[in-house]
Amino acid sequence: MSHAYHRQLVFTVKDKCRVCYTCVRECPVKAIKIIKTQAEVINERCIGCGNCVKVCSQGAKYPLRSVDEVNLLLKSEKRIAACIAPSFPAEFTEVPDHQLLVGMIRQLGFDYVAEVSFGADMIAREYEKRIKTSRNVGQISSDCPAIVYFIRHYHPELVENLAPVASPMLAMTRIMKKKYGKDLQVVFIGPCFAKKAETEEVDEVLTFRELREMFETRGINWESSDPSDFDPPVSGKGAIFPISRGLYFTANSTESIPEEQVVVAEGRVNFKEAVKEFEEGFIRNKHLMLLCCEGCIMGPGTSPGGKRFARSAAVGEYVTRKLASIDKDQWEKQVEEFSSLDYSQEFTPEDRRFEIPAEDKILEALHAMGKFKPEDHLNCGTCGYDTCVEHAIAIVKDLAETEMCLPYTIEKLHDSINNLNVSNDKLAKAKQALKQSEKLAHMGQLSAGIAHELNNPLGVITMYSNILIDESPENDPVREDLRLIAEQAERCKKIVSGLLNFARKNQVNLSETDVVKFARHSVDSIIKPANIEVVFEPRISDPQARLDIDQMMQVMTNLEKNAVEAMPEGGKLTIGVEGDAEELRFIVADTGTGISKDHMDKIFTPFFTTKEMGKGTGLGLALIYGIVKMHKGKIHVDSNDDRANGPTGTTFTITLPRT
Ligand code: ADP
Ligand code: MG
Repeated sequence: MSHAYHRQLVFTVKDKCRVCYTCVRECPVKAIKIIKTQAEVINERCIGCGNCVKVCSQGAKYPLRSVDEVNLLLKSEKRIAACIAPSFPAEFTEVPDHQLLVGMIRQLGFDYVAEVSFGADMIAREYEKRIKTSRNVGQISSDCPAIVYFIRHYHPELVENLAPVASPMLAMTRIMKKKYGKDLQVVFIGPCFAKKAETEEVDEVLTFRELREMFETRGINWESSDPSDFDPPVSGKGAIFPISRGLYFTANSTESIPEEQVVVAEGRVNFKEAVKEFEEGFIRNKHLMLLCCEGCIMGPGTSPGGKRFARSAAVGEYVTRKLASIDKDQWEKQVEEFSSLDYSQEFTPEDRRFEIPAEDKILEALHAMGKFKPEDHLNCGTCGYDTCVEHAIAIVKDLAETEMCLPYTIEKLHDSINNLNVSNDKLAKAKQALKQSEKLAHMGQLSAGIAHELNNPLGVITMYSNILIDESPENDPVREDLRLIAEQAERCKKIVSGLLNFARKNQVNLSETDVVKFARHSVDSIIKPANIEVVFEPRISDPQARLDIDQMMQVMTNLEKNAVEAMPEGGKLTIGVEGDAEELRFIVADTGTGISKDHMDKIFTPFFTTKEMGKGTGLGLALIYGIVKMHKGKIHVDSNDDRANGPTGTTFTITLPRT
């Protein structure tokens, strides 16, 4: 008997997986790897319980198939026996009588059709003997192949506690080969595909679903079946085996096994818990009767959607009918006949546990999921793992991914949404700024045109009025009028040159300068009332930069003048110089009245002023705009004019590129 015998039982269909993690959660040994958002069964870790196949709504996993092999066998010259598991009444509920099913199986070409429940009868006697004779040493039932795999791979220290007893399937195979000859080929048909990897002594294993498939392809149904009975040996109480607590009922045929000596646990959560408690010593002297499914009637090789209690009832009814008509003498004779057969089965440990990763690696994986404190461990189980630590271990072992953590993924999603909102805001602001600069560009064009056209006639007016002044006699009353004309013409010229500055057809004339000295010097040329405090804040490591000193001086003085004018009651004027290798920033901040929201997008427009007639021209910021644009720089304004929102004031930041 080879125990290295391990066929791949479950296969994965790529791309069908929609990553619900249900299979990860349902897999009792976490033999499922999530890579690139696809679930994949790892054969080395799999115990063949079939849970993943049962729960996958996408059909992304399928079990090992044996239909082709069985068909080949049936075509051969060999004598072949079908041994059908005792759970068949639960599966073939539509077939009115078991004799019709037997007829259908014979129609497929099987030479014999026997019930595995006679094997169950025989091994139940073995269990009964063992339980009665070893009262203080607990043991674990070995009839469920998934449980056997689980113990051998994940609790190898407990292999010595596995009952060294053959499964009903194996027992029945030995019985059939004894009765019908060594060369008989045995095909087991049952509810479980883990059976396909249980032993090489059984020639082939089919699931009920595969048997149905064979009936369908051959067009075999019960309506046209020729009814016949099972071939001997005929079974007894063993037929009750596949239902919940079946092994206990069968083994306890003489009612000699007290209930408290036995622990029955079924289903993926319960069996693991029972093994854990057994290992920890709490139930060490008990006899554990374990099944991976909730009774074999719900096995993964049965048709999907079966009703558990209806199936159980179907088996019960079949057993009742069977026992009512059983020929007790014949049965006992058979038991006698096969009682000397070897029903033993050896199990060897085969450790497949992985090493727990180092603490720091686990912590690293936890941190990557934003889990730093114990409160961050929600242990919600959405990822498929019971705890965040188990998930982290699986990540370190390359079995799982960080994104499987739902709370983490939701948080990341929220972050993305926030970032998106911020980008949206920025985009809206940029759009607004673009509109504003387009408007200003149009105005610039218009202003430049007007200014250019007016420049020449104004020059003529100035020149001729001055000539006339020079030529008129000293006390001529006209002289005063002429002076007024010349003066107003001069004023017009200033306005026109302001407009030209805004349109900035002029060139920049860059020269190397110390920007800190430059900024400090800019304050010297403005008139500062005594109630205004001037603060200078240079914060720059490399003050050498290239700029058009004359033009930038106009920028600074205009900003400073505006600031002073905004603080009629006094206040603080702060001049800052900042920058790095890339850019240079001049900051002019005041604690003045601030700019109202309505005015904000107008302040750069030529002639916009809120100042009284004669005081403001509304050309200062327009000029600044033109100059900064020529320097390929940016202007940023921050202002608050509402006391309710904190101290009022305005900060202008001029950013210029270094190169
Ligand atoms: P002017 O100073 O001739 O009015 P500007 O173009 O320099 O023209 O400024 C336009 C308008 O912008 C000002 O009238 C004022 O309303 C507003 N403004 C500019 N700077 C400030 C400031 N530091 N504080 C408050 N308002 C300001
Ligand atoms: Mg001004």
